[in-house]
Amino acid sequence: MATKERKNPKLHITEQPITLSNWHQHVNWVNTSLILIVPLGGCVAAFYTKLQAATAAWAVVYYFWTALGITAGYHRLWAHRSYEANCRRLPLRIFLACAGGGAVQGSIRWWSSKHRAHHRWTDTAKDPYSVMKGAWYAHFMWMVLKQNPKNKGRTEISDLNEDPVVVWQHRNYGSVILFFGMLFPMIIAGLGWGDWKGGLVYAGILRFLFVQQATFCVNSLAHWLGEQPFDDRNSPRDHVITALVTCGEGYHNFHHEFPSDYRNAIEWWQYDPTKWSIWTWKQLGVASNLKQFRANEIEKGRVQQLQKKVDQKRAKLDWGTPLGQLPVVDWDDFVAEAQNGKALVAIAGVVHDVSGFIKEHPGGKMLISSAIGKDATAMFNGGVYMHTNAAHNLLSSMRVGVIRGGGEVEIWRHHNTQKGKA
Ligand SMILES: [Zn+2]
Ligand SMILES: [Zn+2]
Repeated sequence: MATKERKNPKLHITEQPITLSNWHQHVNWVNTSLILIVPLGGCVAAFYTKLQAATAAWAVVYYFWTALGITAGYHRLWAHRSYEANCRRLPLRIFLACAGGGAVQGSIRWWSSKHRAHHRWTDTAKDPYSVMKGAWYAHFMWMVLKQNPKNKGRTEISDLNEDPVVVWQHRNYGSVILFFGMLFPMIIAGLGWGDWKGGLVYAGILRFLFVQQATFCVNSLAHWLGEQPFDDRNSPRDHVITALVTCGEGYHNFHHEFPSDYRNAIEWWQYDPTKWSIWTWKQLGVASNLKQFRANEIEKGRVQQLQKKVDQKRAKLDWGTPLGQLPVVDWDDFVAEAQNGKALVAIAGVVHDVSGFIKEHPGGKMLISSAIGKDATAMFNGGVYMHTNAAHNLLSSMRVGVIRGGGEVEIWRHHNTQKGKA
C-alpha cells in the first residue's frame, strides 16, 4: 500500500484503500466529533447524571423544536424553497436557523447544498449520501469518511448566499452549535430548576444525538423501507415508520417526485407535523406562498406507477399467441381440416384448436363438438351461452390461426363455386 501511495502521490486519500497506517486520514474528524465522539461522551455522562422529570420533558420539547429547525427550516424552506419566510418573516427564519443549528448537522448552506445534490443525482456517484453505497453509508458513514472531491456535484446555491440569515449562520456556525446545541438547553434547565448538568447531558447532547439519528434516517431508512407509489426508478420510499421517526419526512417517494411541495404527507391522516407547523405559521402570518402540486398531477403519477405494475404482472401471464403471429388460413381449408378430424372451431375470425378441451368443456361435449368446423361466434357470445371473461381468456390460449376475411366470405364462395364449375 505504501508503495502505491508513493507511486501515486496525487491520488486523493479516498481513492486509496483504508489501511492500519492511513485510516485516520480517511476520517473527517470534525464531522466524526460532532456526530460520534461528543454524542458517545454524552451517553457515558448519562450514567453519572440523574435524569429529572422536568429535564426529560424539556429535552423532548427541545428535541421537536430543533428537529423542526431541520425539517421545516433546513429542508423545506432553504433546500427546497417550498414556502417563503421572506423579509417581513425574518423572525421565523432566525428562529429556524437557530433551532436547526441546535440540531448540530452542519450549517444551512452546507446541508442544503448537499441535499440539492442528493435530489439532483439521486442514487448516482454524485449523490453525497447515495443508498447504492449501502444503507449504513447513506445514514452515517458519508460524513465520517472524507468524500472524493471528484464526485462533488455542483449545485446552484446563489439564493442561499444572498440570504443574510444563512450567511450569518454559516460564518458563526461554531458559536451557533455551541450555544444552541449545548449551552441554551443547559441554561434553561439550570435557571429553570437548577439542573445544569442534566440540561447539558440530556437536553443538550443526548437530545441532539437523537435529532441527528432521526434526520439521518431520511437518507437511509427512507431510501430502503416502504412503498413506491409514484415512481420506482429510484430508491426513495414511503413508510409511516420513517415518518414517525423524522417529524413527517417519511413520505419520501412523494417528496422526491414533488420536492418543492411544502407537504411530505398529502393525506390528512398521515403523520407530518412539519407540514402542520408550516400551515400554522401561515395562519399566524409568518410564512407565505406555501407550494403545492395540483392533485391532478399527483394522481397522474400514481396512476402511471399503478399501470406500470399492472403491465409488469400482465407480461408474466400467457395470453395466447398474439393474432399477428398466427398463420392466416382460408375458410375452406379450415373446414377441410375440421372434416379431416381436427377439432377446430372458428370464433370471431380466429381458429381455435379445442381438441384438448372437449372433455373439460363445462357446457358438455355435445355443444362444443357441434361447433367443430363452423363459425361459432354467435354460439359463444350469447347465442347458446354468454361465456365469462375467464372463458374468453381460456379460448385465447387455444388460438391456432386467423381466417382470411374473418369468416366464410360470401363473394369468395361464389368465386370458388364458379372455379369448381370451370
Ligand atoms: Zn432522499
Ligand atoms: Zn428533499
